[in-house]
Order: sequence, then C-alpha cells, then structure tokens
Amino acid sequence: MDPKKLMFNCFKRYYRKNPDIVVPNNIKQREFGFILFINDEMIRHTAFPSREELVKYLKEKVPRHAYYSTAYYVDPSAPDMASKGWLGADLVFDIDVDHIPTDCKADHDFYLCQDCGGISISGEQCSVCGSSRIKKVTWVCERCLDVAREHALRLIDILISDFGFSSNEIEIVFSGHRGYHIHVQNKDILELGQDGRREILDYVRGEGIDFRFLPGFNIPRKGSKSISASIDSRGWPGRIMRSLYNIILNLNENNFHEILSREIERDDLEYILENRSFFLEELENPDKGYVNLLKLRRKTLLALLESAVDFSKVIVDEKVTIDTKRLIRLPGSLHGKTGMAVRKILFSDLENKSPVDYAIVFAENEYFKIKAKFFPRHILDFKIEDKKGNGYIVVPKYIAIYLIGNASEIVEAIEVI
Ligand SMILES: [Zn+2]
Ligand SMILES: [Zn+2]
Repeated sequence: MDPKKLMFNCFKRYYRKNPDIVVPNNIKQREFGFILFINDEMIRHTAFPSREELVKYLKEKVPRHAYYSTAYYVDPSAPDMASKGWLGADLVFDIDVDHIPTDCKADHDFYLCQDCGGISISGEQCSVCGSSRIKKVTWVCERCLDVAREHALRLIDILISDFGFSSNEIEIVFSGHRGYHIHVQNKDILELGQDGRREILDYVRGEGIDFRFLPGFNIPRKGSKSISASIDSRGWPGRIMRSLYNIILNLNENNFHEILSREIERDDLEYILENRSFFLEELENPDKGYVNLLKLRRKTLLALLESAVDFSKVIVDEKVTIDTKRLIRLPGSLHGKTGMAVRKILFSDLENKSPVDYAIVFAENEYFKIKAKFFPRHILDFKIEDKKGNGYIVVPKYIAIYLIGNASEIVEAIEVI
C-alpha cells in the first residue's frame, strides 16, 4: 500500500475510536490550527464552541497535525491577528532534544540528498553526488528522550522553587516527538509581553551569570575570594552549589571530560580528587557560613562553577516562549512525523515513565515489511539490525508509521505480512 495512505488510515481509525483529547481551558477563546494529509498548508483561524465540536472536526478531517493557541482571544476565528482581540497567553516552554547536544545523534541522524537521494552522515554536501541540496533527517531514541526529560525536570523545579508557581498551575505535555511542552496557566503572567517572557527565559537558561556579581560568590579577578552561598541557598546560588556537590561527588580520572563542561589542569583535578571528602564536607554544612573551596586556583574554581551552571540550566526553544500568539500541539492528537500521541502527563509520569510507555498508540501486534535505502540504528526503544541484502526490514506497526511519517521519501515499499 502507498505508505502515506497507510498512515492516513491509521490516523483515521485512531480519531474515530474516541481518543482522549484534552481540550485547553477556555476553549471558546482559543484559535485552532491544522495540517491535513493532502498538503502542507496550515488551516488557521478555526475556533470551536465545545469539545464535542472539536472532536467531530478531528474525526471528519483526520489532521496530520493539530494545534491550538497559547493565547486567548475575544474572537479567535477572526481572519487576521489584529482583529482577534488578544486577551493574554499562557507561559509556554518547548524542550526539544533537537536543540540539546547528545552523543546518540551520530547513531540515528543523517542527511538526505534532494538531488540523488544519497545518504550522508555529515551535513556539508552529499557524499554520493556532491550536491549541497541536502536535508537533515533526525530520529529519536530513548537516550534523547531521557535528556529532554532531565531538562523538563530542571525547568519545573525552577518554576516552582524560584518563581513560586504551584504544581497545579503547571501542565506537562509530551510533544509526540522529541520532548516536552511545559505550560504555565496563572493569571499574573497572562498579559506578560515578549520582554517579560524573555526575562523569564534568560533566568531559566542561566544566561549572564557572572560570579563576580552573583550573591554569595565573591570571586574577583584580584583580591581574596569567598563563597557564602550554600546548597540551601535560594535560586541559582543554591542550584549551582548542589550541582557543584554532585560534580565533586562523581568526578574521577576517566569522566572529567563529561562531568565538566570547562577544561581544568591535570594537577587541579588530582588536588580535587585527593581532597574530595574535605570539599564534600564543606558543602554539606550550609550553616557554617562559608565554603572553603578557596585553595583552588581562580580559573579552576570558575571552571567548576561554570560547569555547575551548565548542568543546571534548561535548554529551551526561545521562539516558543517569547511568541505570545503561538500555536502548540493539542494533547491527545497525533504527531504527523511520528504517529505518537501528544500526551498530557502527570509529574510522576515525567519522573518515572518513558514516552514509549504512554505515547505509542499503534502498538497492536501487527508487523510491516518496509524497504528503504537507509534506516537509523535506533528508533525509540527499537533497535534496527544492520542487515545487508535486499533492503527490507520487518518492524512493528508503531515503527513503520514513524518511518513513513519522518522520512516517507526513503520508504520504497511496505506490506503487511
Ligand atoms: Zn546526492
Ligand atoms: Zn538519541
């Protein structure tokens, strides 16, 4: 069967079985947007009076992608943005592992030549024909999703501990692809403009932290250093000290390149390892008033502290947070690149479960035989064996849909066994 047709049929069956569509609050004030299977055009300026009407639309149209506005409008279906009457917007963060460096990407991402269809591993030009018309094809494995989860947990900690939002104002959504959307619904931030949202963004990203000026850290270029921040301090100072504690606890001869994001001298590394228990004890006693890390060279101390910032900051897509008229994926809808569900989840699901546990909807015991020029070695939890031969592989349905959705041009044939 034509791969796109197969995917459409699966989506149609999904929407007709009354899936768990989670509608946003104040549905009447939200704009909805859809991309169907027939073309890539976004249908915008749609509005629904109720959940029933929205679900009916999904059943009828079977969209490939479904979105709603983070903003609230007087008239969300007005054909241009100016006449919609903007009332405010939720504060939204998009954590997408595509923006976060991970080692596993070399295992599963590649570049597809738009001229000859050749596959290259590096992104400059096609290794087959030399064309520079190449497109990056990315995939997601469980390692990627773990990294995204880690950033989502860091973000939620900052939103609750530093900004004082309560956990029931924070909605966690798996994006259906490479990460999470974190929505904050609170009346005080509704009317916040782009500049205010950017300030919040800079804070969670740890932008511009300068240890000469950060409270609790007195590390001047000249003169004596002192640290009065502790693991119990509020905000970034405490976050940095807790991260520093973990760095010193876990540091060893073999892992310092991964555990530190900045270089340190060999003799400084040895000095830290020899005095590890002393440093840990210093950090474990927040009541003492100061932390004696000061025998370290300034350069080394800064490398440790800057690494602590790097392992505490949240990498988010800034465009999504700043844009007060953004469309974002609808929970319960399917992601047209992966066939996975966009899922609203509980904090405990974020902590303890993988999206593979709750977002795969085509998990029936059906297998497909697929032919393609190239396959990634991993997709989600599934390992694709590197078989040479006629280029066919047999995969479960959810992987077949993912292959078709993400790079249908590489799929040559598909059949049910
Ligand atoms: Zn080529
Ligand atoms: Zn990965």
